Amino acid sequence: MLKLNTLAVDASARYVIAITSVEELESALTFARTRGLEWFVIGAGSNLILASDFSGLIIHNQISGREILSDNGASVVLKAGAGEVWHDWVRYTLRQGLAGLENLSLIPGTVGAAPVQNIGAYGEEIANSLLSVQVYDCDRSEVRTLSAAECEFAYRDSLFKQQAGRFVILSVTFKLCRYGAPGGHYDFNLSYQPLADLTAKTPPNSPQDVSDIVCAIRREKLPDPQQIPNVGSFFKNPVIDVSHFERLHHEYPSMPHYPAQKGVKVAAGWLIDQLGWKGYRNALVGIHEQQALVLINHGGGRGADILALAQQVADSVFKQFEIQLEIEPVVLGGSSVPGHSSSRFEPGR
Ligand SMILES: Cc1cc2nc3c(=O)[nH]c(=O)nc-3n(C[C@H](O)[C@H](O)[C@H](O)COP(=O)(O)OP(=O)(O)OC[C@H]3O[C@@H](n4cnc5c(N)ncnc54)[C@H](O)[C@@H]3O)c2cc1C
Repeated sequence: MLKLNTLAVDASARYVIAITSVEELESALTFARTRGLEWFVIGAGSNLILASDFSGLIIHNQISGREILSDNGASVVLKAGAGEVWHDWVRYTLRQGLAGLENLSLIPGTVGAAPVQNIGAYGEEIANSLLSVQVYDCDRSEVRTLSAAECEFAYRDSLFKQQAGRFVILSVTFKLCRYGAPGGHYDFNLSYQPLADLTAKTPPNSPQDVSDIVCAIRREKLPDPQQIPNVGSFFKNPVIDVSHFERLHHEYPSMPHYPAQKGVKVAAGWLIDQLGWKGYRNALVGIHEQQALVLINHGGGRGADILALAQQVADSVFKQFEIQLEIEPVVLGGSSVPGHSSSRFEPGR
């Protein structure tokens, strides 16, 4: 599995099958079921921690395809196969002058995994432009279309995380705006401060302009997993209640915070940084020098090593701030996951 996860964990799986169609998916599921094997679907493995070897079947989703379903000039409905590379798909929409996905440029992974944790960056989430998701429902053994509302999107969460092992995403349908089309109207989302600062002097003229800026910020801030194995942000930004926040804010007036539906969201990276973890390393794994939120594999680190470090970080944050961090990537196998995490994925059976 070394090449199938961006954390470069050298775990093994008993079987790996690549699928390119729903028929191949059904064959793979039959293969697993007739042998009593657990199964687990992956895309690019960029949000995955292999905590142990896997004695079941890994289904590597490679269902491709891009299709324009309707176009009324101002808005366009288009569909992408689950195995398409996310950033290639974003670039394809930008080439057609379509707006909606520009803030989500350069996020690693596949289209099919994007709804699973409702990928988000720079003030946007896929939920804002997603129309529906075509899935294979393994409980009912049938292909279904789920509307955006049925996907139960929330911050880094969705029905697909809540009911892990039930749905395999086959394709995703988006509704995007044609930027500048007569009768159409679209406002760029520049709410993220560095994006606002960089566009203050020269406002963007196209979704491509915004994408270019997002890519430049990301390249500067985030390590390329090809060079430094990682899974991006390791912890979710915690939401704490207002009285807890007020106590902390009194003590740490510079603490970054954002309004949330139930309480106040605080920046996990800032909490970790306060405790001096940035740049920490042990023999195998560590924390990125510029990004306290990014755990990295220095080579030879196993999933258990990464999770042990994550536990140390989470414990220290809890001790200092009484905030329980929850990890963002999905954990396959192993026995302990830091925090009260919803990230442990039960494989399909
Ligand atoms: C450098 C870096 C930066 C990142 N930045 C961001 C960011 O800004 N925002 C963000 O939200 N994420 C970010 N991520 C995390 C990651 O890119 C996303 O979560 C991405 O959507 C994962 O895609 P994947 O194909 O690699 O999924 P995988 O890691 O292969 O799988 C992730 C989960 O999705 C499930 N899954 C995958 N494909 C399917 C399918 N077809 N059907 C059903 N379930 C499926 C898997 O079972 C697993 O539970 C970053 C990661 C890295 C390495």
